[in-house]
Amino acid sequence: MDFEFTPEQSQFREELRDFLRAEVPLEKQEVFGLLTEEQYQFGREINRKLAARNWLAVGWPEEHGGGGKGPIEQGILAEDLGYWRVPKSGSIGLGIVGPAIMVFGAQDQKERFLRPIAKGEVEYCQGFSEPNVGSDLASLELRAERDGDEYVLNGSKMFTSYAYHADYMYLLARTDPQAQKHRGISLFIADMKTPGISLRPLPYINGEMAAQTFFDNVRLPISCLIGEENRGWYHAMTTLDYERSGLGRYASVRRVFDDFAEFCQGPSPDGGRPLAGHPLVQRQLAQRRLGMETWKLLCWNVAWMQSSGAVPNAEASVAFLYGSEERLRFAEMAMEVLGPYATLRHGSPAAPLLGNIEGIHREAMHLHGAGTNEIHRNIIAQRGLGMPR
Ligand SMILES: Cc1cc2nc3c(=O)[nH]c(=O)nc-3n(C[C@H](O)[C@H](O)[C@H](O)COP(=O)(O)OP(=O)(O)OC[C@H]3O[C@@H](n4cnc5c(N)ncnc54)[C@H](O)[C@@H]3O)c2cc1C
Repeated sequence: MDFEFTPEQSQFREELRDFLRAEVPLEKQEVFGLLTEEQYQFGREINRKLAARNWLAVGWPEEHGGGGKGPIEQGILAEDLGYWRVPKSGSIGLGIVGPAIMVFGAQDQKERFLRPIAKGEVEYCQGFSEPNVGSDLASLELRAERDGDEYVLNGSKMFTSYAYHADYMYLLARTDPQAQKHRGISLFIADMKTPGISLRPLPYINGEMAAQTFFDNVRLPISCLIGEENRGWYHAMTTLDYERSGLGRYASVRRVFDDFAEFCQGPSPDGGRPLAGHPLVQRQLAQRRLGMETWKLLCWNVAWMQSSGAVPNAEASVAFLYGSEERLRFAEMAMEVLGPYATLRHGSPAAPLLGNIEGIHREAMHLHGAGTNEIHRNIIAQRGLGMPR
């Protein structure tokens, strides 16, 4: 593993940081546990500005509107956007849908779908989980029946993050109910404006408004099928492994950790001596610093594997699982150190660090998104250590 960036990569990082310093003032940065419409729109605007420099999809081939670089540059971008707390948008298109279309999409689908993602013009949501299906995703029930040149979809999707902003949903549906469960699933892209798609609001603990998405006789043209019919499970699982460095997630937490460490060196919230004067606080901060550095290396290991042409699998689960638990350890430590002040939300004049401590604690409590921690442990044991299923 080479820990150094090339001179070109370092230069890219410097130019990116100049851009972020100029374009992302503190008052526009996302606060954990709070994503306002204004912040979301600001995030989209930043994405479009990045895209105008060919930086948004910096790791994609130029023919698809990308920057022609690779996973390391994409990792640099993710890490810095996370650290600057740029409100997230477009991540499903860039991280999951784009790579899937590049590998499994037909030529006309590449031409139709890729450039708008790379240019930050569209938002995608992901329709995998259902009311009765989460970890055991291959049991999904949303039905897509072939009818001439169309598929007719009926059923519902659960926990659809970004549903209210999305132009398209990237979804899995059952096309052959007679086949073995993994073999009867297909992958589609659905325009969210298609008649028959409706949303029911579903608020998350992290402040985001997601949805349950209903499909009532939704007719999709066959050109919306990505890859082969009934091979969707394998297509989707392969491409989920592509963009998994988790650097953005790490860096957004790291920023709060760094801010918190600095905060502890100033006067304590009740005007007393700095919290950092307590040996116990110092010890706790040192311990979490260790955790943050470990998390960072695990994420960069995934990006480095991608840049060497390997498809990370158990390694991505190691980074993801470690990160979820480190985020929670940090949030709990900050709660303990700050006492009741840590429970004050953004907007309260006495909330430390703009309410980020309260928000990160709330967000850190969910250990379900993108696969639960138990499922990541299963992946590490079975695919990483070769143990039986
Ligand atoms: C914030 C957030 C955002 C999300 N965004 C999306 C999204 O955009 N699109 C989407 O499709 N889904 C999304 N999800 C859904 C997410 O993928 C599911 O919550 C997750 O897959 C778990 O499914 P479940 O909630 O049905 O829990 P279950 O699968 O019912 O699990 C319940 C419990 O049982 C445990 N468990 C289940 N199976 C096993 C096993 N084999 N071994 C050990 N333990 C097991 C789990 O770890 C968990 O603790 C999101 C979830 C959250 C929390």
